[in-house]
Amino acid sequence: MKSPFINQNQTPFERYKRQLDLPEIGLSGQKKLAGSSVFVIGAGGLGAPLLTALAGAGVGRIGICESDHVEYSNLNRQFFYTPGQLGQSKLQLALAFLRQYQPETEWIGCDQAFSAETAGEVILSYDLVLAAVDNRKTRWMLNQAACERGRPFIDAGIKGWDGYVLFVNPGHTACYACFCGGCDPAASASKDSNSREFHARELRARDIHTREAQDKELHASELHAEQFHAKEIHAIDKDAGMNHMNKESQKIRAEKKPSVLGATASLVGSLQGQLALRWLLLGNSEMPEDLLLYNGRTSQIDKVKLKRMPDCPICGNL
Ligand SMILES: [Zn+2]
Repeated sequence: MKSPFINQNQTPFERYKRQLDLPEIGLSGQKKLAGSSVFVIGAGGLGAPLLTALAGAGVGRIGICESDHVEYSNLNRQFFYTPGQLGQSKLQLALAFLRQYQPETEWIGCDQAFSAETAGEVILSYDLVLAAVDNRKTRWMLNQAACERGRPFIDAGIKGWDGYVLFVNPGHTACYACFCGGCDPAASASKDSNSREFHARELRARDIHTREAQDKELHASELHAEQFHAKEIHAIDKDAGMNHMNKESQKIRAEKKPSVLGATASLVGSLQGQLALRWLLLGNSEMPEDLLLYNGRTSQIDKVKLKRMPDCPICGNL
């Protein structure tokens, strides 16, 4: 395994000069990061800031799983890619960017979609797995595989102005299934992939330790996002000269994908990266909260201790 402590020309620690003084890092922490490995599922809106944060801090080995190709609508948030690269492999472009940015990290790419077949091997090959995806199916698969093997992972999700980061340490914290109330994702396949995580009524139903006022705030925020989106589309429709935009707006409505700001993706992806670094450096003792809920309209982050479901179908016996 390559290390950031070799092949650094005449100044081996120069790259990390601005973080070595942090009491949580220092020389021993930097060596720990160099010897650490993470696997990131997704190199999109969350994955780009997340991967950059991990590589920049000096994580020694990073695997990336990404099977998509660049689409125009990715570019409001996925800063690894440019308009001249539409249709190209995201994985190859992300690896090219990251190898330039941090050549001392060992980069491993996987261009197949994350699957139950490969999940187990991946989980055992890395210290930590990070889900930077936009669908529940992948999260569910990862959760199941991680719980079976007792390995931690960190999930994140975004919608509009808001986002969350969920830390799962099987047997010690609530798992993703506890978070979802033990629901089978196939049973809710017709639902929007991210709305479940953000839906205040479901949070209440699962007896999560959070304030009701916060629930209302999240719900209001979600409603506001919908209204904002409707106003935006209406404004575009009003302009008779913008036929192209009109068609685009109709397409956006037809696809029914959740709206998201690039700034939200960058913020939540970075938050996920910071949590990952904390785990790699300090371990479980420094992870008191399981769930971070970010409200972009109030700039508020709520820390939530999730309750484990005693009858959870995934982690109930751990
Ligand atoms: Zn569970």
